[in-house]
Amino acid sequence: MSVKNGRQFLSIPGPTTVPDEVLAAMHRPAIDIRKGELVEVTAALKDGLRMVSKSDGTPFIYIANGHGAWEAALSNVLSRGDKILVLESGSFATGWGQAGGTMGLDVEILPGSWQKSVDPNALEARLKEDKSRDIKAVLVVQVDTASSVINDIPAIRRAIDNAGHDALFMVDTIASLGTMDFRMDEWGVDVTVTACQKGLMMSPGISFVIANKKALARHETANLRTAYWDWTNRLGPEHYQNYAGTPPVHMLFGLQKAFEMIRAEGLEAIFLRHQLLADATRAAVAKWSEGKELSFNILNPAERANSVTTVLVANGNSLDSIHEYCNEKCGVIIGVGISELSGKAFRIAHMGHINAPMLLGTLSGIEMSMKAKGIPHASGGVQAAIDYLAENVPQ
Ligand SMILES: *Cc1c(COP(=O)(O)O)cnc(C)c1O
Repeated sequence: MSVKNGRQFLSIPGPTTVPDEVLAAMHRPAIDIRKGELVEVTAALKDGLRMVSKSDGTPFIYIANGHGAWEAALSNVLSRGDKILVLESGSFATGWGQAGGTMGLDVEILPGSWQKSVDPNALEARLKEDKSRDIKAVLVVQVDTASSVINDIPAIRRAIDNAGHDALFMVDTIASLGTMDFRMDEWGVDVTVTACQKGLMMSPGISFVIANKKALARHETANLRTAYWDWTNRLGPEHYQNYAGTPPVHMLFGLQKAFEMIRAEGLEAIFLRHQLLADATRAAVAKWSEGKELSFNILNPAERANSVTTVLVANGNSLDSIHEYCNEKCGVIIGVGISELSGKAFRIAHMGHINAPMLLGTLSGIEMSMKAKGIPHASGGVQAAIDYLAENVPQ
């Protein structure tokens, strides 16, 4: 017996729910890829990227997932043997660094905690030691989707400046762009990496790199460049050069619609919606945690991301039961713990195209599973989320 038939609630931290408007925008015949409407679509997408990243930089569009954009970013600004410093706060910056290792970069990890933000003071101290300026780039994520921590990008920039270091500052915003503030230019980010399938609400398959002038200057001498990722080729005069070949026509239509929806709602309203839904999630998790079986992975409430919440579960059997019941009985799919947190945590995504009933539905599935399976928790987590929203979203 189950109550799962009906719309499935996919509440994993990527890919996220694609709006019907975006799906519908893709349902049309292909058009010419060399001139006409598609040229305008590409220009509109670049404007959209500059808008969400608050940047006048140069955007590049890749037919690839986020892992592709990681490689694109590194290959365009670095040379074989260059040292990169990777700031650990979960699994994603280190994953990016590992990709660099396979490309021939010398990877150093600044160790961090999976339960805390990157410590800017530790970065400053490490950069001050680097008298010979061997470190060519500093890599960090704004939100680490495994730990659900948020890193303070302006504070990390200040640490680099305080050390008087000229390393490129490269930031992965895949799980944060379009869910919270990011100011590429004002915050002195040289290279921004992002992808379309999380806050940007598009089906997976497209990712982006945005470069500022300093990054474009480094590109001139970078020897890791390869034909497909290469910025110089992509800045050529023909439209198809933007994509180093055939553009993903229908995905561009979908993405254009997603940016239209973002503009219509407005960035500030989007950030506030994410904050409210994240706070509601945290109200529920805080309540459930009174039962001592569940707890927040991120220790300091100020460092918890507004796009995803990682919840530790003390007992592995409880964790399996929650996933199984949510999936088999309720039609709710929540994220699994990954890497170090595999088998130890679940993750609730609250990013992109999501509203109160979608979030409350997911939280209800989780609470229902704990009640049905006899997992220790304080009941009333969903009620706490409702109370929070009712108080903070006045009529
Ligand atoms: C999802 C994610 C990635 C990986 O993106 P893919 O599209 O799965 O390759 C990288 N970094 C962060 C922060 C992410 O959330």
